[in-house]
Amino acid sequence: MEEYLLLDAGSGGRASQRLIGSMFLRHFSNEALNRLDDAALLNVSGPLAMSTDSYTVSPLFFAGGSIGTLAVHGTINDISMLGAEPRWLSCAFILEEGLPLAELEKVVADMGEAARKAGVKIVTGDTKVVPKGACDKIFINTSGIGEVYASPVPSGHSAKTGDVVLASGTMGDHGLAIMAARSGVSFLSGARSDSAPLNGLAREIYEATGCVHVLRDPTRGGLATTLNEIAEQSGVEIEIEQAAIPINEEVKSGCSFLGLDPLYLANEGKLICIVPENLAQKALFAMRANEYGQEAAIIGQVREGRPGRVALRTEIGGKRLLGMLEGAQLPRIC
Ligand code: MG
Repeated sequence: MEEYLLLDAGSGGRASQRLIGSMFLRHFSNEALNRLDDAALLNVSGPLAMSTDSYTVSPLFFAGGSIGTLAVHGTINDISMLGAEPRWLSCAFILEEGLPLAELEKVVADMGEAARKAGVKIVTGDTKVVPKGACDKIFINTSGIGEVYASPVPSGHSAKTGDVVLASGTMGDHGLAIMAARSGVSFLSGARSDSAPLNGLAREIYEATGCVHVLRDPTRGGLATTLNEIAEQSGVEIEIEQAAIPINEEVKSGCSFLGLDPLYLANEGKLICIVPENLAQKALFAMRANEYGQEAAIIGQVREGRPGRVALRTEIGGKRLLGMLEGAQLPRIC
């Protein structure tokens, strides 16, 4: 018989304890969490990086990931972009009454596995259950703390004229996978989210080069929006080569069918890295040696030009400006 989540499970009483014991402790178990004190005790020294994000993706499960993998990868990737090793996560669930417990368990198991694989501990959490209709199945917030190893830390403000721009792999996979899961269009079924932890990749790039000016994960708004943010923050122009940008065939054909531009589609397991020109080959080599950077490529350069501008050199030799994403191309993609 299928079991469903009842309002009691968010009451803070026995039903809450049962849910915590039977599900969260089982999948997330670690010393700090298992104590079940009011807060987790952490031992830290040196500078820290902290980030938070909420996850509302619909549907909950899609090719290549789930709301659970995103809730772990999304937050640890943001911390990793600061040249920090993510160590601890908090997680807060807003759950809808009537949710099948099997679905919740699958999400929780995905989170536990993603955290273990990335070497991160979920050390504190919270669960609220709201009446049917007050939210859509599962909303998750995760916050994370990481220990900074880079000095100086990579920043969107640090791109310099002459620097080289690299992408760690194919663009647009996550956005198209969500679109495919929602539309049910059969020929899009090859689309797979790239949901992945980038802490190892970020660290290996830093260790290989010793100097990374910018690291950023092109999530919502995609590559084009991320590059616009960097060009604005650093007051530089960035020029990229269309032919050099890795894009999967499924994403190319899916985008032309749906009228979408892959450069504006979200990624959940890719990073953009900007380094001094003399370190570009070292960065590329380090990226390609990592399981999440095998298709890394040099895609462009930081130029003296109009500050804040991003230009795309097209395959037929033309040049067009890439603006920021206007409005929401796809709601609830992460
Ligand atoms: Mg980010």
